[in-house]
Amino acid sequence: MGKAELIEQAKSHYNEAEISTLEVAINFATKAHANQKRASGEKFITHPMAVANILISWGMDIDSVIAGVMHDVIEDTETELDQIKELFGNDIAFLVDSVTKVSKARTGMRDLGDYSQQTKDNLSKLLIAVGQDIRVIIIKLADRLHNLTTLQYLPKEKQTKIARDSLEIFGPIADRLGMGRVRMEIEELAFKYLDPAEFKRTQNLMKKRLGKSARRLGVVRSEIEAELKKQGVLVEINGRVKSLYSLYQKLKKVKDINNVYDLMALRIIVDKKEDCYLVLGVIHSLYKPMINRIKDYIATPKPNGYQSLHTTVLTPSEQIVEFQIRTQQMHEFAERGLAASFHYHEQKSSKNYTDRNQPTALPANLQWITRLQEIASRLKEGKEISKDQLNIDLFQNRIFVYSPKGDIYNLPENALPLDFAYLVHSDIANHAYGFRVNNKIHPFDKPLKNGDIVEVITRQMSRPKQDWKELVMTTHAKNKLRSYLRQNDKINTVTKISNIFIKRSKK
Ligand code: MN
Repeated sequence: MGKAELIEQAKSHYNEAEISTLEVAINFATKAHANQKRASGEKFITHPMAVANILISWGMDIDSVIAGVMHDVIEDTETELDQIKELFGNDIAFLVDSVTKVSKARTGMRDLGDYSQQTKDNLSKLLIAVGQDIRVIIIKLADRLHNLTTLQYLPKEKQTKIARDSLEIFGPIADRLGMGRVRMEIEELAFKYLDPAEFKRTQNLMKKRLGKSARRLGVVRSEIEAELKKQGVLVEINGRVKSLYSLYQKLKKVKDINNVYDLMALRIIVDKKEDCYLVLGVIHSLYKPMINRIKDYIATPKPNGYQSLHTTVLTPSEQIVEFQIRTQQMHEFAERGLAASFHYHEQKSSKNYTDRNQPTALPANLQWITRLQEIASRLKEGKEISKDQLNIDLFQNRIFVYSPKGDIYNLPENALPLDFAYLVHSDIANHAYGFRVNNKIHPFDKPLKNGDIVEVITRQMSRPKQDWKELVMTTHAKNKLRSYLRQNDKINTVTKISNIFIKRSKK
């Protein structure tokens, strides 16, 4: 990525003044990195330029793009932060500084034996950076993504470490920000390096299966398209193929690829929310739906903000097809997550982010960011925060577990199966009878581990018991359980009283 190319990319997104600042930044960074080379032998500046280009393609604001160009100058060159402040202003300097701090904090955080002061300091810096401005993490994701595409030039050991970090940390973060496409890109690249043999095997499996289904899917697609046209619904239909990494994850649980129903899905994109339900109706009138696979993520979005209707149907030719139905806006969000909201923000007003005290409004389901912001401002004011509060940090003390369907849930380390169940739905938790983790029966009191696939076994007659209080650790689960038990206590009391009454009246 050269200077002329990057400027060309930027032209259709930003105004003239913004472009000329970008140009100044490119010249500045090029000079600062003048004597450095990447492991590939290319000039170092190609890396920050590529990062900036990624940020443009995600629709980020100009300050993020400029910070992308400059993201390595503090860490890798003699440049001082004050120079950046002077030339580009506080906002860009803040972003560059924060990205540098995140890079540094990460190194200190890997070996968290005990809660050392060093780690706590790093963590604080990180939280301040992230909590103040989520753009910092988005820039880090672009940085990581580009580093993954040039991994072949690094020694094996480094490749493995970066690949593992990417799968364990950056992928889940992209997911939490709702950036589905970025998560997929990160996972796909990292998977290839972390386990080349498994990658190849999964790829071959996929290829074999796809050949057949692609043709048959074409038939279904034209049927649906014709019917929707008749109904006068304007739609865009495209096929999406499951990512290799998520297929690999799924095959750990579902051994036979023929039982993976969402290997290929048809994605239907419409104008209005009402149309989503209309399309669902049309699909169900043409084909037989698998009742337990109808998901309304529009009424109940996933924790990361994802919205869509999902349904899996059986066609007359016995083919199982998954459909994902969403509006254009939901689609944008599913692919680009938080980055998409910057894009919308941009369209409304081009002058923004000058006031650091006014964080960009976030969708309600991304509350963890708000919590980070609260903690960050406490830290900034020099107030004490407890270890407990710090537990919500992004990188340590959190685990990611999967539902059998492959949905990701984020829990604190040492969380118990019931914590998971209450996170999924209190109705499910309140009827929990047992658990299966990675296909094995799992006791109530055994903590979950990162990457576990957790299935809640429910029974209609099963009810929460008093001793469950010892079997939950998250505040969420505790509250839900407490409110159930309290409610139930009342009912019991009422039943007891009425029993007494019945007994008496029988006398
Ligand atoms: Mn970098």
